[in-house]
Amino acid sequence: MANQDDKFKKVISHAKEYGYVFQSSEIYDGLSAVYDYAQNGVELKKNIRDYWWKAMVQMHENIVGLDAAIFMHPTTWKASGHVDAFNDPLIDNKDSKKRYRADVLVEDYCAKIENKINKEVTKAAKRFGDAFNKDEFVSTNGRVLGYQEKINTILSRMAKSLEDEDLADVKALIEELEIADPLTGSKNWTDVKQFNLMFGTKLGASAESAMDLYLRPETAQGIFVNFLNVQKTGRMKIPFGIAQTGKAFRNEIVARQFIFRMREFEQMEMQFFVKPGTQKKWYKKWKETRLKWHLSLGLGAVNYRFHDHEKLAHYADAAADIEFKFPFGFKELEGIHSRTDFDLKAHEEFSGKKLQYFDHEENKSYVPYVVETSIGLDRMFLAVFSNALEYETLEDGSIRTVLKLPAVLAPTKAAVLPLIKRDGLPEIAKQIVEDLKWDFNVAYDEKDAVGRRYRRQDANGTPFCITVDHDTLKDNTVTVRHRDTMEQKRVKIEELRDIIKQEVDVKSWLMKM
Ligand code: ATP
Repeated sequence: MANQDDKFKKVISHAKEYGYVFQSSEIYDGLSAVYDYAQNGVELKKNIRDYWWKAMVQMHENIVGLDAAIFMHPTTWKASGHVDAFNDPLIDNKDSKKRYRADVLVEDYCAKIENKINKEVTKAAKRFGDAFNKDEFVSTNGRVLGYQEKINTILSRMAKSLEDEDLADVKALIEELEIADPLTGSKNWTDVKQFNLMFGTKLGASAESAMDLYLRPETAQGIFVNFLNVQKTGRMKIPFGIAQTGKAFRNEIVARQFIFRMREFEQMEMQFFVKPGTQKKWYKKWKETRLKWHLSLGLGAVNYRFHDHEKLAHYADAAADIEFKFPFGFKELEGIHSRTDFDLKAHEEFSGKKLQYFDHEENKSYVPYVVETSIGLDRMFLAVFSNALEYETLEDGSIRTVLKLPAVLAPTKAAVLPLIKRDGLPEIAKQIVEDLKWDFNVAYDEKDAVGRRYRRQDANGTPFCITVDHDTLKDNTVTVRHRDTMEQKRVKIEELRDIIKQEVDVKSWLMKM
């Protein structure tokens, strides 16, 4: 645990030190769970967004984009169920005055039991060696079955209590399990209360005429209310999708995990409209497709897993999370939900307008079913960034800090460095920058010894360093140094563009899907 905390702290301080993420309004001591993306962060975030957009919109002829406003008619949120049901159960600790999500306390308790299962598995794997069969072991070992049974009992009781709005029982469960405040160990809890996560605001000048609005808690509803407009004007045929990236706002109760859980964050969502009855097929397809997108970035297959939901939201007939191994353990990165016709039907009912599709093949109208893929851009940023940060011990015993971002996402693709600041080397280096900047984000750096500049660019995540030296004056060649291998190669200046392109080109990365 200490190790995990330590790694996470390093990620946060590296993000600040290298101009990726700052606390919002830091000079006023910050605003809790709100963050700003700095000069490098904004580029990384944009590159992730573009990578998603290209894969989802540009590469699918039946998926189009949308940019709906953040403000929406307030009835939208009645229809979607957010006004009545977008709540989290919260609980306060009377001694520490800290606030928690009651369901998260219970889930964390279960995660600890799951760790025990994992320990048993590791032990057994060691004992049995090559003959070890994990599936068989977890389905027959008495101790593991006991742990699993305990988890199931706890989670299904909590699911039922939450569904029945029996918050007293959620508190009783916390007390029975003797769950303590993770920070102080105190077990002195208040009752559990529901808390709506939507931020309210007002539209209009005078108090009497002002209209209560919400800041959208998800981008999906902007897609649903525009479904028919897009379908008709784009002459879209089912199955088709509408994709959108944009800000969403949630007044999160517990927001202590850097950009993992923010109050203002960005989502990348795609709603795929399908014929009723075919949703299971599409759900499966999108689960596979989205996992492939993640794997194409090379963060390591072992760092992903699916978590299929047993307890489903009222609108869903299947749901799964793609979980990623963050520095604090496996957590949700993306959700894939088969949302049935719940949203469109609700908007029909509340607006009195038909939101139906006329299927020429079937010769009838129907409300389509929807399969959604929804990923948090900030969480993806954290996944990429935390996975990339490495501390390598070199042969001479020194530590190299290197941010091994996938080259396609790196904010700066190459840094051009004159070996020294005279003899015409800076001029050549600047000319290389001038030539390359049409195609890539490149930087010029002449300060400090070249070794230090290499380290600075390594820590910054820049895949290539290009060094101009005295030989360049003679033969127009430069040294290209690779961030990950530290290998250096002598190449001609005119080859630079192709060398960089080969490694940062979106196409070659997406082709791995
Ligand atoms: P969680 O259970 O972690 O609160 P959720 O299930 O409420 O998440 P969804 O409503 O499915 O999340 O939202 C889709 C995606 O949006 C999530 O997978 C996550 O990546 C992202 N997301 C949701 N809430 C936040 C937040 N507060 N900060 C950053 N990203 C978020």
